[in-house]
Amino acid sequence: MKITIDKNAGFCFGVTKAIELANDYLKNNNSLYCLGELVHNEEEMNKLKQSGLKIISYNDLDVINSSAILFRAHGEPNAAYTKAKLLNNTIIDSTCPIVKQLQKKVVAAYNAGEKIFIYGKKTHPEVIGIIGNINDDAVVFDDVNELNYLHESDKITLYSQTTMQPDKYQDVIKQLKDRGVIVNAIDSICSSFNRRLIELKDFCTRYDVIIIVAGKSSSNGKSLYSISKSINHHSYIVSSEEELQPEWFKGCNTVGISGATSTPLSLLKRVERAIKKLV
Ligand code: SF4
Repeated sequence: MKITIDKNAGFCFGVTKAIELANDYLKNNNSLYCLGELVHNEEEMNKLKQSGLKIISYNDLDVINSSAILFRAHGEPNAAYTKAKLLNNTIIDSTCPIVKQLQKKVVAAYNAGEKIFIYGKKTHPEVIGIIGNINDDAVVFDDVNELNYLHESDKITLYSQTTMQPDKYQDVIKQLKDRGVIVNAIDSICSSFNRRLIELKDFCTRYDVIIIVAGKSSSNGKSLYSISKSINHHSYIVSSEEELQPEWFKGCNTVGISGATSTPLSLLKRVERAIKKLV
């Protein structure tokens, strides 16, 4: 059986940078606080925790003082910076530059009086960070039907969470425009993620079975899987090699493995080795 790992898989540059910053700090220090899970990957998180990374929540910012706190690639609202600094903490900021840029654009549009709409997941940390900078005064939706109350000639400024599917974002824009809503749509999907999606579409057609490896809470992992499944019916998503099922590979000659932006190459290689043992 031929097994191929997608050459585009592995950490994106935003996640790579965040992990580098954490590891660099932990080389010379015993511990480092991190606001939320640094990466949606259990294995990588365990490694970082063993080196001294401690996960904290927003409420912990009320008590942690004179310490180093890492802000992850998803970005944080200004209130988190203010709180952390108030108690004399040092912030190690690993906000991805693409997210930072999006935050700035949204704040500028909001300050200019525009009505902000965000196509994304309400509970996603990136979205929480973005709207936190505009007093949560934005409409976040992941289904265009949630906006049925918008009328013809209503005017909105629309952004997308960086890891939503571009096709679906375009469809949202089209449906709103078809209804007569005046939409100032900003392309805010991460180009690195978008490239990965485009190339995945081709990758999925080349193998009998596709395995997407992603942490259970990885939003972009779910998007990659949904695209893969729509193209290749024999697509499966796993968070580790233990979840592989032997029956998926019956009668198959080729397997393609890809992963989320937070899935390390080492895990993809373990999945590859596990498949070889199964067949
Ligand atoms: S997916 Fe894109 S926006 Fe998100 S962290 Fe990675 S590089 Fe940055």
